Amino acid sequence: MACRWAQMITKLSLRGAIAIASPVIARLTKSAEAISITGSQQALQSQVRRLLRSLRSLAMTIVVICCFVYANLCIATYNIAFADDQPQWQEIKGEHFLIYFTGDEKFAKESEQKAEYYYRNIALDLGYQRYSEFWLWDNRVKIYIYPDHASYIKATGQPEWSHGMANYKTKQIASYTWSEGFLESLLPHEIAHLIFRDFIGFKGEAPLWLDEGVAQWAEYSKRNFMKSQVKNIFDANSIMLVNDMMKVDFKYIQLKDVLYIRATLTKEGEPGVVFLTGDELIKNYYIQAFSMVSFLVEKYGAERFSHFCRELRDGKSFEAGLNAAYRERISGINEFQNKWREYLLNGQK
Ligand SMILES: [Zn+2]
Repeated sequence: MACRWAQMITKLSLRGAIAIASPVIARLTKSAEAISITGSQQALQSQVRRLLRSLRSLAMTIVVICCFVYANLCIATYNIAFADDQPQWQEIKGEHFLIYFTGDEKFAKESEQKAEYYYRNIALDLGYQRYSEFWLWDNRVKIYIYPDHASYIKATGQPEWSHGMANYKTKQIASYTWSEGFLESLLPHEIAHLIFRDFIGFKGEAPLWLDEGVAQWAEYSKRNFMKSQVKNIFDANSIMLVNDMMKVDFKYIQLKDVLYIRATLTKEGEPGVVFLTGDELIKNYYIQAFSMVSFLVEKYGAERFSHFCRELRDGKSFEAGLNAAYRERISGINEFQNKWREYLLNGQK
């Protein structure tokens, strides 16, 4: 807003400068033309031309000065606006988290306690032993809690529908006071993403569904709901194949007006076809990702799952990691598909 004000002033200054310079130049040009009619007045004419040139360069100087003033005004007002927009953060220091907040301290304290709780439990749940020293001191995760939705959107540049976000590189999570679902869903989801990436690194072949599956598995309060969603897809014979799950690229999926045809296996294990809109494909993808992780963790335990993750971290392919960690139980993607189908047939047990 302040910058727009500065732009207006500068535009007016520019217009003023041009308005002052133009008639003077025009009048002098006319005079010069009139003078040039008679040859005897040539000396005077060349003097006027020199004067005209000086006036032109004076006008140019005014324009350059105005531009300079404009740029400086813009920078200055931008800095002021930026400084004004920065909340006066208060800080809560936890063992693994630093909470920054401006408004409700109760919410900030609750966020810190819940974050520590999720941190311990998610690592334990996934079999990531000795993980507790990862986020101490300078490695603590920073959680920024803005006072309301509007200030969160303004500061982070997120779309209007966003209620929270995480930056995995800088290990920061952001949301706002009493954001709905933050404490129960978003916080454990994002902490799980951070733990998973810390543990597994970026070298190995960790498919996106595994990353999203782990994050959703960490949303304890949603587990029963997610299981009922998986059951619906499974009962409707709409499960996508594991091979397809490995290849889904969201960049190329349109949400509307496109129907995606995917191969499937029916409940009985017969080959089939499923038709999905872009929306359905993404929704099913997330539900299946949850279920595939729940199958690996619940059916074969956290220890084996962490072994599998270690294999991926050390650079093994997905299939090689699966073979190494699950040995005679699951060898290869096809067997993974069949064993997962059996798990769903048995009521996800
Ligand atoms: Zn996620």
